[in-house]
Amino acid sequence: MDQDPGFIAAVEEAKKGAAEGGVPIGAALVSKDGQILGRGHNMRAQNGSAILHAEMSALENSGRLPASAYEGATMYTTLSPCDMCTGACLLYKVKRVIIGENKNFVGGEDYLHARGREVVVLDNKECKHLMEKFIKEKPGLWNEDISV
Ligand SMILES: [Zn+2]
Repeated sequence: MDQDPGFIAAVEEAKKGAAEGGVPIGAALVSKDGQILGRGHNMRAQNGSAILHAEMSALENSGRLPASAYEGATMYTTLSPCDMCTGACLLYKVKRVIIGENKNFVGGEDYLHARGREVVVLDNKECKHLMEKFIKEKPGLWNEDISV
């Protein structure tokens, strides 16, 4: 799954976020037939946004879609999704969430399981490294992201 186009897109997005001086988390929403519906990265610092986490950016960049477009969809994200993003995945009935890593943060994985969603954690080295470096360099920005 490390080689899935959706995951590769999510990691590319995370790196874009890092290059912009933002929170290096990326995501991509992929339809059941493998089409990338939308991709994006955390834009809190860049846009002064309270809600544009990576998964929210991917959903936003997917645009307005009928419920059928999300059927069987997968959300790829480089970091375990927070409560807000977990809720958005549940709202849009995303079937599967594939997570780059959950060593630096664990979000709503148990809740996703409890609601019948498939959750896969890849424990990806590159994702872990991006977050470790960021948390060390910008702890204040990171704490804002997870409301600490
Ligand atoms: Zn989030």
